[in-house]
Amino acid sequence: MPTIRSGARDHSPSRVQLEAVVDISTKELYDAIAFENKAGGAWTQGWAVKYRGDEWNREKLKVFVVPHSHNDPGWLRTVEEYYQERTKHILSTVVGALRKDPRRKFIWEEMSYLHRWWQDASDSEKQDFIRLVKSGQLEVVGGGWVMNDEANSHHFAIIEQITAGNLWLRDTIGVTPRNAWAIDPFGHSATMAYLLRRMGFANMLIQRTHYEVKKELAQRQSLEFMWRQGWDSANSTAIFCHMMPFYSYDIPHTCGPEPAVCCQFDYWRLVRVGQAQRCPWGYNPEEINEGNVRERAMLLLDQYRKKSTLYRSNTLLVPLGDDFRYVTPQEAELQFTNYQAIFDYISAHPELKASVQFGTLEDYFSTLRDEVARSTKSSSRANEDEVPGFPSLSGDFFTYADRMHDYWSGYYVSRPFYKAVDRVLEHTLRAANILYVFTHAKCRPKDTSSFPASYSNAIVSASQNLALFQHHDGVTGTARDHVVEDYGTRMHTSLVELQAFMAASVEALLLQQQCKSENFRQWYEPEESRSKFNMLAVKKSVRLASGQARRVVFFNPLEEAVEHVVMVVVDDPAVCVFGPSWASVDSQISPEWDETGSNLSTGRHRLHWTALVPALGLATFFVSSAEGVADGSSCKRAVPARIRVFNSDDKFSCPNGYSCSLETVETLEITNGFQTLGFDSTTGMLRSIQISKAASPSTLVAVEEDVAYYSSAGSGAYLFLPDGEAKSLVQAGGLVLVTEGRAMQEVHVVLKTSIGGGELSRSARLYHSGATGRKSVQALSVEINYHVALLDHRFNNKEIIARFKTGIDSGRVFHSDLNGFQTIRRETYDKIPLQGNYYPMPSLAFVQDSRGKRFSVHSRQALGVASLQTGWLEVMLDRRLTQDDGRGLGQGVMDNRPLNIVFQLLLEENVTSSASFHQKLSVPSLLSHRVGAQLNYPMHAFLGKIVESSVVIQETSMDTQWSSLASAFPCDLHLVGIKALRPSQLEDVEYGLLLQRRGWDESYCRKGGTDSCSTLATSAKVDLHSTFSNLVVSKVTPSSLNFLHDHAETLPGRKGAGASAAGIGIVEMSPMEIQAYKLMVE
Ligand SMILES: [Zn+2]
Repeated sequence: MPTIRSGARDHSPSRVQLEAVVDISTKELYDAIAFENKAGGAWTQGWAVKYRGDEWNREKLKVFVVPHSHNDPGWLRTVEEYYQERTKHILSTVVGALRKDPRRKFIWEEMSYLHRWWQDASDSEKQDFIRLVKSGQLEVVGGGWVMNDEANSHHFAIIEQITAGNLWLRDTIGVTPRNAWAIDPFGHSATMAYLLRRMGFANMLIQRTHYEVKKELAQRQSLEFMWRQGWDSANSTAIFCHMMPFYSYDIPHTCGPEPAVCCQFDYWRLVRVGQAQRCPWGYNPEEINEGNVRERAMLLLDQYRKKSTLYRSNTLLVPLGDDFRYVTPQEAELQFTNYQAIFDYISAHPELKASVQFGTLEDYFSTLRDEVARSTKSSSRANEDEVPGFPSLSGDFFTYADRMHDYWSGYYVSRPFYKAVDRVLEHTLRAANILYVFTHAKCRPKDTSSFPASYSNAIVSASQNLALFQHHDGVTGTARDHVVEDYGTRMHTSLVELQAFMAASVEALLLQQQCKSENFRQWYEPEESRSKFNMLAVKKSVRLASGQARRVVFFNPLEEAVEHVVMVVVDDPAVCVFGPSWASVDSQISPEWDETGSNLSTGRHRLHWTALVPALGLATFFVSSAEGVADGSSCKRAVPARIRVFNSDDKFSCPNGYSCSLETVETLEITNGFQTLGFDSTTGMLRSIQISKAASPSTLVAVEEDVAYYSSAGSGAYLFLPDGEAKSLVQAGGLVLVTEGRAMQEVHVVLKTSIGGGELSRSARLYHSGATGRKSVQALSVEINYHVALLDHRFNNKEIIARFKTGIDSGRVFHSDLNGFQTIRRETYDKIPLQGNYYPMPSLAFVQDSRGKRFSVHSRQALGVASLQTGWLEVMLDRRLTQDDGRGLGQGVMDNRPLNIVFQLLLEENVTSSASFHQKLSVPSLLSHRVGAQLNYPMHAFLGKIVESSVVIQETSMDTQWSSLASAFPCDLHLVGIKALRPSQLEDVEYGLLLQRRGWDESYCRKGGTDSCSTLATSAKVDLHSTFSNLVVSKVTPSSLNFLHDHAETLPGRKGAGASAAGIGIVEMSPMEIQAYKLMVE
């Protein structure tokens, strides 16, 4: 029989040009599966697996037993606690055990732990480790800092965490990983397949996918496939993926379909010897001896043969490990010697037509590829894009269920406070890396104590702390309380350090004098700060006496110039704002409302004005007291906003200096000329969005906002198990405060709810465009801020959502994003319970209809989203749960913190046709990309010292503007990041640059809806030698996304991808792609 058995093929023709033609799409799997959870016998979630016995006559069964130990960098213990108690012993044990016998093998994944062990290990242990890796006995798989979560993590942070681990691995051990290993993330993202491919990985492995999906793929012999991006019509992104077939990665669920049998081959469960839990199926392991070896070998081989029938080749992978295993030499010896005895018996009996040995992932995948090449007589080893005989697959593996109706959608939302901090650290690190590159170029540090090299440790440590939190018990919110505090403290420490660095960078870049420390006056401080790791950031108030002024410098970390209505907080409303050339600009002053609603007005004031800040650049504004302004400058006083009040009780008193009117109309509106928002004044909830267009009738869409909750007695950190449908929380009578001025309009409501009062408030804002009359990106979307504080028992076992019921006839289809990198089609199925219809939403979800209307919700943090009825989108905001959900954590989620969850809502009309509605592939419009970028990569503000305004005018040692871009980027080209690859390096500095060409829907408005977008990547050439005005780039080298493979155009899948042009620094990329470059700077 042919080795490569043909599995069921499920061809679906391509309906649209962009879409990849694949054998299997996960959408088709979901349509096909009944989700009935039928009992499967010994293999509970499968079937009674049988084989004839002649399957291995021509090509024997080649089994690789792969010893591994799953080390979580934080979960029930902190990363350092685990390291001290377990991991340092594990690494030493493994090195010792492998040294004894060259037939023994092992794989290791987490570089955070290896890096930590490297500080403690003896020189001989390190030499042995390196020798074992080079000899192939020990393989580093994945080699990321952690094994990252794939639902809540943003692609920037995934690249950062894999690169941090891979670069350390290359620099320290001298190897480059080829095979990725993700056995524990709770569902798997197609973005990982893309990123790993573009990092030069040849193969990947995944485990936690829906048990029904595993079964369906197993029945089609399609658990191994070429995983390809849904948008990849040119077939350049596919990576060979192995999906494990069973319930878990532990030993009972990896040797074959019958856990009661496999458990008997976990020798750390040996009665009276081993220390792992006894086998729960009643049969325990027996040590191998001459008397039982045949019986034991045949029992195990039977499982291997059964498992092998689920796959197409006769090469079989059998992981051998569990969480924190191989701690002691005794444990390692029990596993290695007992298995070796079984292997020896099988080798001595060729009639069994099997070879069984310890192996690494590389052993498995290379043997499989050899077998494929032999049987198909092709040279597949040389061509990693194709593994003949295996199906192609597109789509992703969310939402994960491990049994029954236990869907793991709760962790999309658990600990939302820290999911928000994660993204703040991410965008702050990105911004700091950009500033590091340009201050390094300007200041040319002579040693590591001079600026900015003096901050290199802070930058490296921030990257490692961000990387650590991407762990699948970090950003997921599934660790114990004290571990969450450890992650939070690490992120907070790094944020403080990065902000200090950025404040110094602002001074260095604006300083006209040489960049020497004696010229630094520590002029700037960050405008926002947190008093503690678990507190919200607070804006510092600008306090000015007569004749005083203060600089406010904005850093725009985006590749496009940004026009934004900015806001600082002031103590005294009698102020005026001056622009970079000391011309007074229009500004608005309004009261700052207390989010908890207890005092309504805080006594401080919000000062808004329009700032235009150059791309990757700085702009200085001056906030001055309106009194005693220097001669010769005219001060345009900030204009007080008009306040309208609805549902006022007697407590409301109008803040001094403002005029307030008490109103009772039912429908209230705010408008900025581009959009009009309608609200129900009795509840304060949004009711409609109207887009005004100059030449045609305006479009009005109902957008009914609601805040509701699910109740549950089963939900926990991982699982969402609602008792029923969500119930609305909102009651009529909440205090509604409308603030209207020339810069900003706002409807703020302190929600009156059925549970209590004051814990929830909502602000909806429209911003105006600048005096030029141009439409800014900000003016075309709606800012929504939910303040949520589920701090006491009244919210126990409640999960709070914001729901938008739109008039868009979307059916039950919506789109949500994967890792902020791409969007994917979702469909709500009745055959799946409510919790299974929830999906990750790291940054975006939208619904659309055939008439070309689209409603999008952009988020700046990871949350969960669903569309339960046509036109609906709901996003879960927070959850407070008293119970554990039985997945090992052993606690509920009760450490809720006050949160501000910010969305940008975008209502769009398809201006050309409705073509995109019929595509399975729907991508954001260019405007939507820009809205998302401005939300996720906001400007950073810094306050200068208070000075006499007359002095500021005469100040000549400081520039007021600075820009690093010599020419504008095309507006579909996004700077993912630029950074010094080794920040402490002083000479031969290498910068790593990552660019993404956005994939966008051309049927929505070109130019991104505004006038400020003038070129697209199709027409504009970007030459990296001359892109940055402050960098003299001497050499541009295309690289893989982890910067390990130079000239990555020669990597599989990159043939002809602008290789020649890239070599001379011209950027040529296909839509959706991310490309890395190394820049050498003179
Ligand atoms: Zn884990």
